Amino acid sequence: MSTFPHSNASLDPRPELRAAHRLQILARDEHDETPELESGKPHLSAVDLFKSYHKGSIAIPVLRGVDFAVRQGEFTAIVGSSGSGKSTLLHLLGTLDQPDRGEVRLNDERIDNLPARRRDTLRNTQFGLIFQFYHLLPEMSALENVLAPRMISDGVLKYWSRKREHEAEAKRLLEVVGLGHRMRHKPRELSGGEMQRTAIARALITGPKVLLADEPTGNLDRATGQEILTILRELNEREKLTVVMVTHDLGIAEQADRIVRLTEGRVEC
Ligand code: ADP
Ligand code: MG
Repeated sequence: MSTFPHSNASLDPRPELRAAHRLQILARDEHDETPELESGKPHLSAVDLFKSYHKGSIAIPVLRGVDFAVRQGEFTAIVGSSGSGKSTLLHLLGTLDQPDRGEVRLNDERIDNLPARRRDTLRNTQFGLIFQFYHLLPEMSALENVLAPRMISDGVLKYWSRKREHEAEAKRLLEVVGLGHRMRHKPRELSGGEMQRTAIARALITGPKVLLADEPTGNLDRATGQEILTILRELNEREKLTVVMVTHDLGIAEQADRIVRLTEGRVEC
C-alpha cells in the first residue's frame, strides 16, 4: 500500500492527469532554488578531452580533443553516429572512466583526477546515471532497486537507522516517475518503459544534481520513449536538474535545449 495521499492519481489512464500528478509531487521543493541556477555558469565541462582504447599494441583513438560545457539546469543532447564515442564521453563526464588527456570539471573544479574514493563519493552524490538497458537487479522489486544505491552509499548500519525515511523517499520517487502502482514488481514483471522509470527513480535516490543518460529511449518504442523523455524534461524543468543525454534519435534530441554533435572524436562547431 502506498503512503501517498494522491497515489491513485498515478493510476489515472489519462496521461495529462498523470503528468499533472507528477508535477504536483515535484512542485513540493520549488522554493528550494539555488542561486547558481540563474547565473548560467558552467555546471559540467569537458576540456580538450582525449581518450583511446588499446587493442594489443594498437591504440584506437575515440575522443580527440572534446570541448564543451553544460550550464546549470540545461538539458543537452549528445548525438553522433554509432561508435563515435558518445558513451565514452558520458562515462568520462560521470567519472566512470578517466581521460588520457584533458579535464572534466564540475562547478569549475577538476574532478577527473581525484583519488578513486573521492570520485566514487562524488559520483554517488552528484550524478544520477541512466542506461539503455536499465541494469536493474532481477531478484529485487522496483522499490528495492531504487533503494540499492542508498544502501551501497550509506553502508548497512547507517542505512538501517534511517530505513523508513529512505523507503518513503524511494516511494515518492516511484510516484514521481508514475510507477506508484508497481513498487513490489520485479523487473521481469515490468514493461521496458516501467523498467526505465524504475531506473530513473533509482538515479534520483541519492539526490543528484546532474542526470547522465545513455540512450535512455534506445530500447523503447516511440511512444514509450517519448514518455521517458517527458519525465526527464520535467525533472530538468521542475527540479532544475542538469541533464546530459546521449541519443541517436534526432526526434528525441530536438527536444533538448541544445544538441552537441560528436564527429571524428570532436564536437562539431
Ligand atoms: P557510441 O556510444 O557513440 O556508439 P562508444 O563510446 O561506445 O560509441 O565507442 C566508441 C568506439 O570505441 C567504438 O569504436 C568502440 O568499439 C570503441 N570502444 C568502446 N569501448 C571500448 C573498450 N572498452 N575497449 C576497446 N574499444 C572500445
Ligand atoms: Mg553508446
